[in-house]
Amino acid sequence: MEERKVVLVTGGSRGIGKEVAEVYAENGYDVVINYVSDKTDIEGIKKEFFEKGVKCLLVKADVSKAEDVEKMVEEAIAEFGKIDVLVNNAGITRDTLLMRMSEEDFDKVIEINLKGTYLVTKAVTKYMMKKRSGSIINLASVVGVVGNAGQCNYSASKAGIIGFTKSVAKELASRNIRANAVAPGFIATDMTSVLSDSVKENINVQIPLKRMGTAREVAEVIYFLGSEKSSYITGQVINIDGGMVM
Ligand code: NAP
Repeated sequence: MEERKVVLVTGGSRGIGKEVAEVYAENGYDVVINYVSDKTDIEGIKKEFFEKGVKCLLVKADVSKAEDVEKMVEEAIAEFGKIDVLVNNAGITRDTLLMRMSEEDFDKVIEINLKGTYLVTKAVTKYMMKKRSGSIINLASVVGVVGNAGQCNYSASKAGIIGFTKSVAKELASRNIRANAVAPGFIATDMTSVLSDSVKENINVQIPLKRMGTAREVAEVIYFLGSEKSSYITGQVINIDGGMVM
């Protein structure tokens, strides 16, 4: 019997991350789901994955805190013995114009989105390197490529993730570890539900496919990048944006 594979998804309790965990589970992976909020329905999520016939470990950890991250990865390794695929998905926004942006809001977004990606990647690749295989997928954003008024902290974090991904891909390719990023456009999740209807309408006008994307449409590409079907792809940024950036 073929050995089961394991995926670790940061921020896997909601939105895109949850959908990613679901797609991997549907393809027979055991899943480690990271979250940070005390409001998370741990039992409900466990039940949902149990019913899919896969093992699911939920780990509370703030990805911006090195100690939390170390413990999370150790717990995952103790449970499953390995991590085949890492999806660095946890992310936040604290949008406002540069002139109004507090230092705290700038730092918080960089700490969770960019430093979090660094901390988790470092902790997980230690084990991937021993195994000489692995695939890492980082969540960037189209705004990390083209910028966006009101999101200088967020777009800086996402541009940083793109540079980080390419450097890691170069460092780890000789160990058979691939690293890629996805750059979603506007995807319907809690993160974008705060936008007003008029802002959403205005966004849709600018998207060639004339609609927001779904979490499933992002998750399927992330699954492809974690799988052997993408075995010759590393250091790339794949836009999933209905044609916004081309
Ligand atoms: P979301 O619905 O707001 O979910 C965010 C997830 O991140 C939640 O699971 C949350 O956990 C987790 N999280 C937040 N801070 C964390 C921390 N310090 N440590 C661990 N987990 C933390 O967001 P989303 O829309 O699914 O976005 C997922 C990723 O895609 C993000 O990196 C985002 O920047 C990126 N992205 C999204 C869009 C979009 O349009 N939605 C576009 C481009 C890129 P809790 O449930 O515990 O709070």
